[in-house]
Amino acid sequence: MVRADRVCKSFGTLQVLKGISLEVAKGEVLCLIGPSGSGKSTFLRCVNHLEVVNAGRLYVDGDLIGYRERGDKLYEMSPKDAAKQRRDIGMVFQHFNLFPHRTVLENVIEAPTQVKKQKKDAALARARELLDRVGLADKADTYPAQLSGGQQQRVAIARALAMEPKLMLFDEPTSALDPELVGEVLGVMRELAASGMTMVVVTHEMGFAREVADQLVFMDGGVVVEKGDPREVLANPQHERTKSFLSKLL
Ligand code: ATP
Ligand code: MG
Repeated sequence: MVRADRVCKSFGTLQVLKGISLEVAKGEVLCLIGPSGSGKSTFLRCVNHLEVVNAGRLYVDGDLIGYRERGDKLYEMSPKDAAKQRRDIGMVFQHFNLFPHRTVLENVIEAPTQVKKQKKDAALARARELLDRVGLADKADTYPAQLSGGQQQRVAIARALAMEPKLMLFDEPTSALDPELVGEVLGVMRELAASGMTMVVVTHEMGFAREVADQLVFMDGGVVVEKGDPREVLANPQHERTKSFLSKLL
């Protein structure tokens, strides 16, 4: 579902991604960990073309992200085509970015009705289903400010799912939450994984990584230092940098 082939990204003279290669099969969950500034968010942003890569290629469901290939040449896509590609990729951020002046239900139907031109009735019915799935059926008519952080984040997940994405990207979805609210969001993510969604999750929740992820990738300084089965990587890290990072987490 996702294939990154030697992805490089610089901001001016700062090289942030130095050849990231990884693969996520359909239905798999990959957790990405690494120190602050190692390029985790930048990598996620490249996957949905919010950042333009400088070299290397990214494929989602077999489609080259951001470019068209003609012969052996690449041409950057029009913003319109890139936006079309992005519709199939859901993203959930640390800060939930809900529309404050819209109700929960209106937040969830916004993209399907505006971007996908779904009929309002169909979008509403689907939104209610999704809110039920994230445990918020009774909050449909509430405004975001009246919800806890964990509830807002679950709305953000429902909102992303409303676009029927092939792939979900999560960038530290629980790190802005009070500790007692983390579990409810991880619970929703766990169920989503169990339902077969392909997910790339930047998180430092090692319990989640150990139990839910198929792969754990440790990034540092813009390179993949180590990757593998999460239980193995956590129990028996092969590289000094991984060891030292994990020891600081625990
Ligand atoms: P954190 O754990 O703190 O979220 P991260 O691994 O997600 O860190 P990134 O946000 O990907 O790290 O940032 C990697 C590096 O790229 C940092 O040095 C950051 O300052 C730099 N960077 C990110 N975005 C930009 C940008 N738009 N312009 C310039 N530099 C940037
Ligand atoms: Mg980040």
